Amino acid sequence: MRRIRLHDTMSGGLVELRPREDGKVGIYACGPTVYSRVHIGNARPFVVFSLLARFLEHEGYEATLVVNLTDVNDKIYDAARAQGRPSAELAAEMGRLYVSDTDALGLGRPDREPLASEAMGEIVAYIATLIERGHAYASGGDVFFEVRSDPRYGALSHRRIEEMDQGEGIEGSERKRDPLDFALWKAHKEGEDTSWDPREYLPAQSCPPEWAAGRPGWHIECSAMAEERLGVGFEIHGGGSDLVFPHHENEASQTRAARGHELAQIWMHNGMIRAGSEKMAKSVGNIAPLHEVVEKWGAHAVLMYLVGGHYRQPLAFSDSELEDADRRVARIREAMRRLRAGEASPPEMAHSRDAFFDALAEDFNTPKALASLFEWVREANRRPDAVGDADLRDMLDVLGLGSLTPTALADPERLYREAWALAEERQQARAARDYARADALRDQIRAEHGVDVRDVANGFELIPLEER
Ligand SMILES: [Zn+2]
Repeated sequence: MRRIRLHDTMSGGLVELRPREDGKVGIYACGPTVYSRVHIGNARPFVVFSLLARFLEHEGYEATLVVNLTDVNDKIYDAARAQGRPSAELAAEMGRLYVSDTDALGLGRPDREPLASEAMGEIVAYIATLIERGHAYASGGDVFFEVRSDPRYGALSHRRIEEMDQGEGIEGSERKRDPLDFALWKAHKEGEDTSWDPREYLPAQSCPPEWAAGRPGWHIECSAMAEERLGVGFEIHGGGSDLVFPHHENEASQTRAARGHELAQIWMHNGMIRAGSEKMAKSVGNIAPLHEVVEKWGAHAVLMYLVGGHYRQPLAFSDSELEDADRRVARIREAMRRLRAGEASPPEMAHSRDAFFDALAEDFNTPKALASLFEWVREANRRPDAVGDADLRDMLDVLGLGSLTPTALADPERLYREAWALAEERQQARAARDYARADALRDQIRAEHGVDVRDVANGFELIPLEER
């Protein structure tokens, strides 16, 4: 087994993956809030952590990937109200669309995709534990987490307590003991069309009277759902770098407070997709919906685009980036035409395949891995005899590109390109007065491509034989 090292935001360096149980890795990645269709920026963590799970499986681990859906949230209430429809209906519809939009990437589904609305029992029990242990308090119907009760608070985001803003604005501020505290539970408010009563899930004596019916805050659902599926201290927690604070800082703190243990061993964060100079975000209004991008470019090009940058770096989004990715996909498909499908690759070429997997083992460096993949392709192209495609398939599978097929021979555009290349060769032969070669090439073009070459001033034209 390769030694695998991943960048951990909490320690600020590379950490070796050391599973709790030999050969088993749990990954929890924060999923979308389902209030509108997902965009290419939301697809990045989905792809990064799906592919990381694939890589770990390739290395012999049994990986369990859990990606939640936040289906109870202020954004959902607001969007549903604006559309005049029930919030649960909007969330269910957007959840279904998220599944079909990400299905189109061809990576399959995460092993578990829990919904906040279906985890109320776990969430309520978690909050009750935090109250019991003196880390949370009910106030005016809400329940708040007492940030200063956790001496390690700030360990993930490396912020000083004075520089922290929970982003909750003035909402509930008069009920908080300290402005730093954040909501674990929000009492039902006018205009919200769903609510849950904690007394339905708890024995009456463990529910303070000030804790009213309502719904959870955002952060608590992930502590509860991650632990329920993967246990405490699982191997990898992932998400976008915009979630480090406050979301992940709060998740980490809640679990320390409730369990006396860190939630995860390694905290991985992917960089943002940028359109122009800004992060792509619904609030900025510069989003490219995933389904439109996949429709326009195809899933292979979209995956190639996403693995073209290191997951920790920001990634620029533009047509020219997607065009580049599309060309890289075409180069692989082109090379596949000469490969022997399903046959072993030459051992002398294995160094490129090994370098590919070594690059993934060192902080999942997909651009470095891709460079090795293309080195393999170049070497295959340079060889006089066709080689087996097994190594290439092995690499492509891990990138989610295993369904790539060779460029079809019947592709009219490429047939034309080939005929064009032969006609250019014929021009050169004529210029060199090698008329026998020129005639042979004309015959070849007619026979193989069904087009004739006609000499015209300054060059040639290609004319389909039927049209002559
Ligand atoms: Zn989360």
